[in-house]
Amino acid sequence: MSAVAFRAAPVLEQRAVGPGVFVLRVGGEFTANPGQFFLVRAWSFHPLLSRPLSVFDLSRDSLSFAYTVRGEGTKLLSRLRPGDVLHVFGPLGNGWSRAEGKVALVGGGIGLAPLLFTAKAFGPPLDIFLGFRNEPFLVEEFLPFGKVQVATEKPGRYPGTFSGMITDFFEPRGYAAVYACGPRPMLEALHKKCQAAGIPLYVSLEERLACGIGACFGCTIFTKKGPARLCREGPIFLANEVFHGA
Ligand SMILES: Cc1cc2nc3c(=O)[nH]c(=O)nc-3n(C[C@H](O)[C@H](O)[C@H](O)COP(=O)(O)OP(=O)(O)OC[C@H]3O[C@@H](n4cnc5c(N)ncnc54)[C@H](O)[C@@H]3O)c2cc1C
Repeated sequence: MSAVAFRAAPVLEQRAVGPGVFVLRVGGEFTANPGQFFLVRAWSFHPLLSRPLSVFDLSRDSLSFAYTVRGEGTKLLSRLRPGDVLHVFGPLGNGWSRAEGKVALVGGGIGLAPLLFTAKAFGPPLDIFLGFRNEPFLVEEFLPFGKVQVATEKPGRYPGTFSGMITDFFEPRGYAAVYACGPRPMLEALHKKCQAAGIPLYVSLEERLACGIGACFGCTIFTKKGPARLCREGPIFLANEVFHGA
């Protein structure tokens, strides 16, 4: 398990990759397990809480996040430029472990954020499924790590993509396990398919959280095994433990 630390990291790059979607790369030697996240902040007192972002990519000397602008915190992050400083605290959370055999990674929209580093760390054999409401983004980053299939809900506009939702054509049979992050309805639809096929589905949940270390219990959710802190026992859960049956 990687050591949790506070760091002031220099911003190396801020890249706009889609409407309101950015990749932010900071410098430093970091370690993390796939599926883990950092609490980040680029401000002093307001907003009070740092914001959780998953590890999008990790190299020998940098750490990257992929994020959408949602509100105040992410708007401030999007204004960072090379030479500014990002305060990061982590790595946090449980991360996910690779099942043996061929696995599938499924991302919906910015839910793809934890999957690139996961694909790199897991290694083959794996397939990658990415679903978007509009124009796809960051797809090319995934191409070296497995067969990538893309779906968009706007039909016919993007060559090589399926029209519809990723859950319309994703078939879990044949995979040892499925790993997913995205909007709740997507995760619930995947759960129904995986449960029917008897394939384990691991989901990364993105609820609101505060301290990140399990002290405040603010992110407690109720699983079939009892209460669990999203930041400590999660954010990865077996879907069977957090969603109701099909
Ligand atoms: C473990 C974890 C990992 C995450 N990783 C990523 C990531 O890699 N990339 C990314 O873009 N986002 C990620 N998120 C979600 C991200 O943390 C929120 O979008 C962000 O905190 C919003 O902050 P804000 O100040 O911009 O918006 P706020 O002003 O706080 O809120 C704006 C809107 O976003 C909603 N919102 C706020 N926090 C969350 C949240 N945690 N989950 C869902 N909706 C929220 C609010 O309800 C509101 O509608 C992650 C969340 C968690 C818990």
